[in-house]
Amino acid sequence: MQKKYFQPEMETMPVEEIKKIQDEKLVKQVRYVYENVKYYRDLMDEKGVSPDDIKGTDDLYKLPFVKKDDLREAYPYGLLATDIRNCVRIQSTSGTTGKRVVAFYTQNDVDMWEDCCARAIVAAGGTEGDVCQVCYGYGLFTGGAGLHGGSHRVGCLTLPMSSGNTDRQIQFMMDLNSTILCCTPSYAAYIGETLREKGYKPEDNKLKAGIFGAEPWTEEMRRDIEKTLGIKAYDIYGLTELSGPGVAFECEAQTGMHINEDHFLAEVINPETGEVLPIGSKGELVFTSLDKEAFPLLRYRTRDICVLSREKCSCGRTFLKMTKPLGRSDDMMIIRGVNVFPSQIEAVLLNSGYEANYQIIVDRVNNTDTFDINVEMKQDDFTDIPGAITKKEKELQNAMKAMLGINPKIHLVTPKSIERSEGKAVRVIDKRKRLGINV
Ligand code: ADP
Ligand code: ZN
Repeated sequence: MQKKYFQPEMETMPVEEIKKIQDEKLVKQVRYVYENVKYYRDLMDEKGVSPDDIKGTDDLYKLPFVKKDDLREAYPYGLLATDIRNCVRIQSTSGTTGKRVVAFYTQNDVDMWEDCCARAIVAAGGTEGDVCQVCYGYGLFTGGAGLHGGSHRVGCLTLPMSSGNTDRQIQFMMDLNSTILCCTPSYAAYIGETLREKGYKPEDNKLKAGIFGAEPWTEEMRRDIEKTLGIKAYDIYGLTELSGPGVAFECEAQTGMHINEDHFLAEVINPETGEVLPIGSKGELVFTSLDKEAFPLLRYRTRDICVLSREKCSCGRTFLKMTKPLGRSDDMMIIRGVNVFPSQIEAVLLNSGYEANYQIIVDRVNNTDTFDINVEMKQDDFTDIPGAITKKEKELQNAMKAMLGINPKIHLVTPKSIERSEGKAVRVIDKRKRLGINV
């Protein structure tokens, strides 16, 4: 049967009641975190705030912020709030350095996460009669696991394809009549293009909806994908630190994503000063988990810039809405779905005996991200022995791959050929901006 909401009592609850639930859950979560995580206890003590000071969401501003660096510093167990024996799962952020961010889950945490993804699937029209093709990557990455679990919860027939092998994706999609497609928007566009090249028309597939996220995409891209696949395309947002995809999801109105407010408390702050901004202002999104057991987070700074809105939505859901991320307040790039920081590239260069004279060039061609790094050779390395430079480029490429998890194209260039800047060095040229993508 077609359901409009996965958990209607929560998803359409009057705002005042949601706030009451958040108040109660926050008080409990803060006390739990204080008692179980030394790292937080020290942060709170340092700020002179005790769990007794937090009587509800209006007191949220008193708590300290937590940043990605705190998570890295506490790697691996420093923020774990329960006995490891109570945990049933680990997931990890993509492509970070030796000190990755790992998130732990108890069974209740997994259940909550999967419910959130199920809400997204039902909002996209999913029912137990659907065939849900999940081509987000499976593994440490949260995309595959999250939508897979959500699809089971809804009762869809789940096709756990993982990413890649596009011919096989298409064969299964056609032979098994997939109706919902879950993947990154760039992969959806690529699948659409491949279908067209193979001579398929949009009406030849049985797809009706797509749930696409994990990277920035534009409205134009949405319309394009909708046209080539003959579907309605929905956005989904999340981050590993908080669970994964499903922190927020789009409804049929396609005007921003509803935040699962019974589990995640959202604020927007001024990234420079930390000041909390009123709803409707553009700023950095900050999340506090409300009922996590293994890896709770207090005031976690996402670095994603967005705007929140409390406007009534035509779908009947009452959850707060967020715009697509409109940019980042740090220098993280998302290339082919993998998080990449210039500092990681710099570390590889220095470790491999190069100087930090380099330029990263990212673009999107045929819906796939291209990733090139120009690196200056040192005067002594400069050689005209045939093949010597190619060999060095290959070595550096392998070192980059080991660090980042994806393969850049390396171009060793002659000494002093990269333009020196008088101000801040221009390390990154992201040509995807020309496509209107908010990188
Ligand atoms: P995930 O595995 O869910 O992508 P990561 O932790 O690897 O999680 O990356 C999270 C980051 O990915 C977010 O902070 C945000 O910058 C980006 N992201 C996730 N979903 C979206 C989306 N729908 N649109 C734009 N950016 C997104
Ligand atoms: Zn809505």
